Amino acid sequence: MTTAVPSLGHSETGDPDTGIPDKPVELSAIGQALAILGDRWVLLILQRAFLLHVRTFAGWRDELKISESVLSSRLKELVAHGVFSLAAYRNGRTRYEYRLTDRGLDLWSLLVAIYSWERDWTDRTDLPQLIHNGCGQEARAYLACGVCLEPMSARETRTVRGPLATFASVGLPRQHRRTVPTRTDYVGYCHHSMEILGDRWSTSVLAAAFLGSRRFGDFHAELGIAPSVLTDRLRRFVDSEVFSFSAGDYRLTERGLAFFEVFAFLVSWAQRELPAPAGSELTITHRSCGSGLAPVLRCTPCGEVLQRREVHFELDI
Ligand SMILES: [Zn+2]
Ligand SMILES: [Zn+2]
Repeated sequence: MTTAVPSLGHSETGDPDTGIPDKPVELSAIGQALAILGDRWVLLILQRAFLLHVRTFAGWRDELKISESVLSSRLKELVAHGVFSLAAYRNGRTRYEYRLTDRGLDLWSLLVAIYSWERDWTDRTDLPQLIHNGCGQEARAYLACGVCLEPMSARETRTVRGPLATFASVGLPRQHRRTVPTRTDYVGYCHHSMEILGDRWSTSVLAAAFLGSRRFGDFHAELGIAPSVLTDRLRRFVDSEVFSFSAGDYRLTERGLAFFEVFAFLVSWAQRELPAPAGSELTITHRSCGSGLAPVLRCTPCGEVLQRREVHFELDI
């Protein structure tokens, strides 16, 4: 008999098609969040929901050119995890639409953080502007501490892991279709960020790096990941200059460290929204003020904290 250990990694059991564990409560909140969101189709479904207000099965199918079976399974998972609720409405006959719940709506700051990273750290020049309605200017959102409101980066935080916050059990990653949507992405999720976020192994490797893994053996011990898969992901991160490699150490570059903005919102959302066993939490503290992680985005021109309803993207559709 084995004892289930709360894990930042993936459960050994679960649906072999989706990789979603049977008993997600055994995973740490971050492990669950990585399992839910570490998938390119899920990110694209959310992106379209936020940006284009897509609400229906047919809407995503036509917009993303995604196969019906893949779309169906992803939507089912997102409903099961409380990101969308399924609502019936009448329009001649009864139809169904997927509405972002409060938990789902809360992901907007994570999506803006991904957009900000792409704006700052990739060569994309076709990103639309994020406008702050309050001041009417391009927000150029940056990560700040929600308590003291000072800018916050990975270096200015300290992380303490709960005693059971291990990566002990790892299962199969979700099988990805390698097809990439051909339609232009309006905001974010170019191949750079998809390399990082659109794949569960990659997100787990990055999470381990933020938590202090440096050497191949550290990552391997943390993640229990097959050496060939780990080698591949580490190489990809070195190629994409998210990690540097020297003298046996993989270290986050400035480009990789900047991804902390995304990581902060992921951790914050996960620990606020997802059930997890005691002892599996991460405690991230803003060093200068001593407060727990409460990430917010601030507007560069006016300094105000950005709220979901007070920003919009200038889309040229
Ligand atoms: Zn602070
Ligand atoms: Zn502003």
